[in-house]
Amino acid sequence: MKNLSILFSFFVFALFLSSCQETPQVSDELVVSNGTLSLIASAGYNQTNVTAEFNENGTKVYRVEGCYEFTDDDVANLAPTPMALRISEEQYRTTLLVTGLPRTITVALNSRLPASYGPALDEAIARYNAQNLQITFTRVASGAAITFVSGNGSYLASAGFPTSTGDPYNTIKINPKAIGSQPQSTVASIMAHEMGHCIGFRHTDYMDRSYSCGGAYSNEGASTVGAINIPGTPTTADANSWMLACIGSGQNRPFNANDKTALNYLY
Ligand SMILES: [Zn+2]
Repeated sequence: MKNLSILFSFFVFALFLSSCQETPQVSDELVVSNGTLSLIASAGYNQTNVTAEFNENGTKVYRVEGCYEFTDDDVANLAPTPMALRISEEQYRTTLLVTGLPRTITVALNSRLPASYGPALDEAIARYNAQNLQITFTRVASGAAITFVSGNGSYLASAGFPTSTGDPYNTIKINPKAIGSQPQSTVASIMAHEMGHCIGFRHTDYMDRSYSCGGAYSNEGASTVGAINIPGTPTTADANSWMLACIGSGQNRPFNANDKTALNYLY
């Protein structure tokens, strides 16, 4: 896993690769302790390739499974994963959602990102706004509620979940090197997926991300953010959900019928 190349990652390809690995850090402060790893593992997360970095606020965060960002406090409070969860592909949400509806959420792209990401973001925004939800997205130049910034590593993109005050998670890291020359519809699918996390959607296949990622069985666990099934979404396999953990090269994932049910239920 550690040597998984970016090229290969496109076959298993992921919004946040199950096998995320970043350039080894040299600072001692960014070493991930065995105690931290064991807490992460006991909460049901994959403890391989956990990396540490400082976020925009200078807070140390651990990147887990290439997707989730936990602070030391988060790690200390990770809940054990229920062991008897049935594998299914229903839509799931976090405990916290964006509040203050109806609400317009502004989105911006950092200017260092490729110019082609502009039309891709417009497409992602249009997909949401076409659903006539209680939240609408609007693109702005700067000062947005959610900003896409450039990320590094072998993950495609990463984000977080809504805050305890009901705001969307404010930063999405998107990785042009890992994404490469994917078509606009794929980049739009990745962006819409990350925006989904920011407003409280978890992975459709969070209970076994091997469903979309391949590889070994891997349960992301409920964690501190919760994993609450959204009523009305089916228990049968949902092969094209926009919130599947991994996406293949060139794939397009507009909202399917179940995704729309989930979006309309929450917002
Ligand atoms: Zn995701």
